[in-house]
Amino acid sequence: MCDSAACKHAKLDRRALLAMGLAGAATLAAGPVLASGKAKAIMLSCMDFRLVDDLVGFMEAQDLHDEYDHVVLAGAALGAIHQQFSDWHKVFWDHVGLAVKLHHVEEIIVIDHRDCGAYKLALGASSIDTPEKETQTHSIIISAFKQLAASRFPELAVRGYLMALDGTVEEIGVQS
Ligand SMILES: [Zn+2]
Repeated sequence: MCDSAACKHAKLDRRALLAMGLAGAATLAAGPVLASGKAKAIMLSCMDFRLVDDLVGFMEAQDLHDEYDHVVLAGAALGAIHQQFSDWHKVFWDHVGLAVKLHHVEEIIVIDHRDCGAYKLALGASSIDTPEKETQTHSIIISAFKQLAASRFPELAVRGYLMALDGTVEEIGVQS
């Protein structure tokens, strides 16, 4: 039995967390618990509400049901690399590192989408004002994302896609 002030404080914290129904947080307070099991990929998507079901449907079609981690950044690839969103970059790459460490993922799947507000915000509406320019702009950003990912996590494969608002998907940023 420990009567030190620090020990009592820790017990109180744990009891308080349990009282609030935060069993998971209480477990964390008791010590680190590493997740078991293995996922195949970590997926990066935009936050756009219009495509949530389409993202899940696409991953199901990739035969990845319940086998991927999912990180959301506005702009997807753009959010991970553009200077305007620099506060998010460490958060994203730290999550990739955790997905590798905890779930042993082997691949990053990044899914940009058409009519993306984050692209308009950071690059200007004219960067995506025709379908052709939109495809080209996303290809440039996803290619840059792939280069950065390869430098940070050379062991991971990276696939990049552009999703239309009807949920159809094309692969882009493929190295020639
Ligand atoms: Zn978006």
